[in-house]
Amino acid sequence: MQVAFLGLGIMGQAMAANLVKAGNEVSVWNRTPGKRVEGAREAASPADAAQGAEVVWMCLADTDAVDHVLFGPDGVESAITPGMVVVDSSTISPSATRNFAERVRIKGGQYLDAPITGSKIGAQGAQLVFMVGGDPAVIEKVRPLFDAMGKLVLHMGENGQGQAAKIGMNLMIALIYEGFAEALTLITKLGVEPEAFLNLIQNSMVRSGVVDYKAPFVLKRDFSPNFPLRLMHKDIHLMLDAAHEARLKLPALETVDEIYEVASEEGYSDMDYAATLALLEKWAGVEVKSAAG
Ligand code: NAP
Repeated sequence: MQVAFLGLGIMGQAMAANLVKAGNEVSVWNRTPGKRVEGAREAASPADAAQGAEVVWMCLADTDAVDHVLFGPDGVESAITPGMVVVDSSTISPSATRNFAERVRIKGGQYLDAPITGSKIGAQGAQLVFMVGGDPAVIEKVRPLFDAMGKLVLHMGENGQGQAAKIGMNLMIALIYEGFAEALTLITKLGVEPEAFLNLIQNSMVRSGVVDYKAPFVLKRDFSPNFPLRLMHKDIHLMLDAAHEARLKLPALETVDEIYEVASEEGYSDMDYAATLALLEKWAGVEVKSAAG
């Protein structure tokens, strides 16, 4: 298929590379020039990339970025042709997504919100899981592209509901990780070895995929970004905004947001969100260390 891929960040660069590998004709665009994907044409603007494409796929930082790339100067909007499919794999606002989908539809295009889970490793290995809002017939139309980048496509409902499911999922990840980090800080202060504690919790009803994924990095004190803290903090704000729009309170999340505020002020934004542990350690005067060193 003729595909335009917009946004070559941690996730987008690997996703676009997998589209090329699967034999699609891909043009790419990134705000900051210099990021490349072998075998793809480098476009000068989002409109240039989208010109003549059957599908435009985005993986951008936040709601403002998607708004700008779709509807700003030299945006995708001017290149939309009848039947063109616009897919957004960024994590952004569910209510803004409904608005973007409507504006794309007015121009004759079709829209899917298709946020992702699987992190950098999943993007590189074409093992992403997509949670999709939109018409199931449109999902089928672009199924080969989903298959080239991921292992599972789950339909969540109408436009916006893919994004709603994604922020619900990340709410759980943020809270589970924070629980893990607080427990590690406490048990270390009380003299329990982290490996012994991990062995206990992964053999109990508390066992968790988040812990499986994060523990090896934490024990090596590797806080290099797989999912940067600034992006999880952005997602926490999406959750709190969506809760505000729906007139409900998320008290545990509000507390976690305060931790992220301090972590951001202290310069942790570009580290992985696992680095909130380092803040708790600082407050407790301990360091969680592997017994193996
Ligand atoms: P990233 O490495 O920070 O990349 C963000 C991309 O957005 C870059 O291409 C950046 O361009 C572009 N961008 C930012 N602001 C822009 C603007 N105003 N206009 C145009 N382009 C703009 O992020 P990522 O990790 O790839 O994540 C991308 C999206 O996927 C995010 O919504 C994130 O929440 C979501 N996500 C990430 C993960 C993960 O594990 N990393 C997992 C699931 C979902 P520049 O190069 O010019 O900065």
